[in-house]
Amino acid sequence: MNYSRFLTATSLARRPNPIRTTVEIMSRAPRTLISLAPGSPNPKLFPFKSAAFTVENVATIQLEEEMIERALQYSPSYGIPELLSWLKQLQIKLHNPPTVYYPPSQGQMDLCITSGCQDGLCKAFEMLINPGDTILVNEPLFPGTLYAMKPLGGNIINVPSDEYGIIPEGLKKILSQWKPEDSKDPTKKTPKFLYTVPNGNNPTGNSLTGDRKKEIYELARKYDFLIIEDDPYYFLQFNKPWEPTFLSMDVDGRVIRADTFSKVVSSGLRVGFMTGPKTLIERIVLHTQVSSLHPCTLSQLMILQLLTQWGEEGFLAHVDRTINFYKNQRDLMLAAADKWLCDLAEWHVPKAGMFLWIKVKGISDTKELIEKKAIEREVLLVPGNGFYIDASIPSSFFRASFSLVTPAQMDTAFQRLAQLIKESV
Ligand code: PMP
Repeated sequence: MNYSRFLTATSLARRPNPIRTTVEIMSRAPRTLISLAPGSPNPKLFPFKSAAFTVENVATIQLEEEMIERALQYSPSYGIPELLSWLKQLQIKLHNPPTVYYPPSQGQMDLCITSGCQDGLCKAFEMLINPGDTILVNEPLFPGTLYAMKPLGGNIINVPSDEYGIIPEGLKKILSQWKPEDSKDPTKKTPKFLYTVPNGNNPTGNSLTGDRKKEIYELARKYDFLIIEDDPYYFLQFNKPWEPTFLSMDVDGRVIRADTFSKVVSSGLRVGFMTGPKTLIERIVLHTQVSSLHPCTLSQLMILQLLTQWGEEGFLAHVDRTINFYKNQRDLMLAAADKWLCDLAEWHVPKAGMFLWIKVKGISDTKELIEKKAIEREVLLVPGNGFYIDASIPSSFFRASFSLVTPAQMDTAFQRLAQLIKESV
């Protein structure tokens, strides 16, 4: 893979921050190292002296003297080494990426921790998108990432998708405007990457099948583009066995995968991780070296302590408990929707995640209904148009989240909405 052809001038120009390099060295050095290098404040003067976190079903996590000092101190831009190696083992167990044993220059799998996966994705877009570059996505898509891409000026093209995710035939048709060898000529503007949320797409709840992923990966090889696999709902897949991921099929080192603890451990701790070819992960870290410097040390240590206590098995058991909760919530929301909306709207059964994507019959634009009338009746939802590349085009959809509400609230919300729809059509 020729990675440099994908990089923006900004990303190519990034150089290691020499002070950050010393922090990386310190984090791995023996205690005998006398460090006069980094401008780290003396943690003895930090007012916080200890912390204890009560955790469900396991011993309290105690951060005493040495640990709290570490938690409150600057740390490496990649993430703290112990958490990185824990996560590396997890990725190997879950995805067994072919790239694990490749040489570094040939796409060897690497990992960095980010402040939620949003941070990593935002940096990946800045690393890859020049104005005018062709980018492939499938609408409707998460505004958090869409709105990170849009200002960078790429030509964002929608690839047709359905209940089972991106339709490979649709992708083939879009790609047929180029010849495979065009990727060697920058003026031809062949797609640089495909961005997709393969499980429980936000907002549709749809998931891409393993067979389609294989076809899409082959097209990526043929036309030489990267795949950004944004998978925050991977650990919220309702049906097992889980489909293989793009990372698991990545024989070339062309997949950048975004994971997060947001949905299964905590969203406020802001801990996510990016897995992909070393050359590209390095660029993301160089960006971190000059933006936030590193993801929060305290958050990382909390997660590390938790994972160490749980072990891989305990973590996956927690994931299963979380899935059971959300699956039940989904079923309760589907029951409420069946009860109140069945003649007024339509939807698919979400396969993962926390959203129901509902199309209102007879209303071409839900914006006013959702943003004004529903709020007046104290029901908060998200109108569909914000999930499209061109938000000015009307949408008959809205997104309802089943993560927080009780069955009684779901029932009342959809009853009120049904009344509103009847008044509006
Ligand atoms: N991508 C998608 C598709 C999401 O739904 C979200 C969270 N809503 C994110 C990325 C960002 O997640 P994080 O909290 O890890 O930044």
